Amino acid sequence: AWGPRREDLWVREGKILNPEKLFFDEKGSADVQLDCKGCILAPGFIDVQINGGFGVDFSLATDDFRSGIDLVGQKILSHGVTSFCPTLVTSPPSVYHQILPQIRIRNGGAHGAGILGAHLEGPFISKEKKGAHPEHCIRTFEENAFQDLLATYGSLDCIRIVTLAPEIKRSSEVIQELTKRGICVSLGHSVANLSQAEEAVQHGATFITHLFNAMLPFHHRDPGIVGLLTSDKIPAGRRVFYGMISDGIHTNPAALRIAHRAHPKGMVLVTDAIAGMGLAPGRHTLGQQVVEIDGLNTYIAGTKTLSGSVATMDTCVRHFLEATGCSIETALEAASLHPAQLLGIEDRKGTLNYDSDAGTVMGMVGRRVFAWLEQSRACYKCRLHLLLYWRLWGASLCPGSALDFCSDDFFPVGAGGAS
Ligand SMILES: [Zn+2]
Repeated sequence: AWGPRREDLWVREGKILNPEKLFFDEKGSADVQLDCKGCILAPGFIDVQINGGFGVDFSLATDDFRSGIDLVGQKILSHGVTSFCPTLVTSPPSVYHQILPQIRIRNGGAHGAGILGAHLEGPFISKEKKGAHPEHCIRTFEENAFQDLLATYGSLDCIRIVTLAPEIKRSSEVIQELTKRGICVSLGHSVANLSQAEEAVQHGATFITHLFNAMLPFHHRDPGIVGLLTSDKIPAGRRVFYGMISDGIHTNPAALRIAHRAHPKGMVLVTDAIAGMGLAPGRHTLGQQVVEIDGLNTYIAGTKTLSGSVATMDTCVRHFLEATGCSIETALEAASLHPAQLLGIEDRKGTLNYDSDAGTVMGMVGRRVFAWLEQSRACYKCRLHLLLYWRLWGASLCPGSALDFCSDDFFPVGAGGAS
């Protein structure tokens, strides 16, 4: 079972180390010891839907695109995010051709969160559920649908997730081809009914993009895509995951609880953050459009259409925890283990298992979070934390108590801070 326990975390050469090997086989000890002063160490957050932040918009083909993505990668570390999928809203082919070659899959480090590949939301989505996407760029599949998709995106090299509307003609072929290539297909911005959604899942789709938003509302005779959460037509051994913008604005807490109680193991927290995340209120760009930020609300300028979010991942995790009353490990899993399982990388990320990437650990002290990314060859021992989210169920500490614990004294991002 999974759960929190008081434990030391050992790290060497960028991997989480089984200390028994060190003690008994190598008779070794730690080169560096870090006093975590009671903070929670957990797998770093993985954000599979983030459009930008800190003034950077991933859907804008600028000359300094690379420095923009680096800036976001570096800034989100202090919100606990250690890897992410830069997300592009519906764009013309020329924009995909310009931007996608500049996105490089890479590991995280003190320089910034790792990049897992792009999430392309559109352009094969429903005009009726376009949300903040520019209508003139939305399209359907031509004959030879998969070739059409290839021509639109230019290349599949760095693509990790594609959000499409399964009711679009010829989408089955595309879903099968993408799945075959290990690219995650997500259903969203769609008016699909439940049987169309189930068919898409049978063809390989595994994800739902921002559940409840930009899809048909739940209806008891045809629950639409939302019905996938309790469908009995999901192939055996498969799990459908669903993204949730848990910022307290895009989804009412009661709806969040409905989704969580119906299908807790599928919940994946996403920020869906736009360029305005981390910026002051006012007007900012999202793709081809202008949006207005007012507190945690973001609208297409001059309208009341919600447009992405400006909440950071740690805020979303806290809101989820408060809205559902779930355990802290459940909240952490929704932002770490589940997205790792969705992408099939749970052997390396999303857990603190031995041999997982040490560069994906984050810490939490009271309401502050930070990422700890250690790539050096030294052997580290992180001691005296209050709780450690570990693979075994250990001491039965009250999970909630860690949130009340607060200290300003924690080691900084990337630095050793040896004690
Ligand atoms: Zn969307």
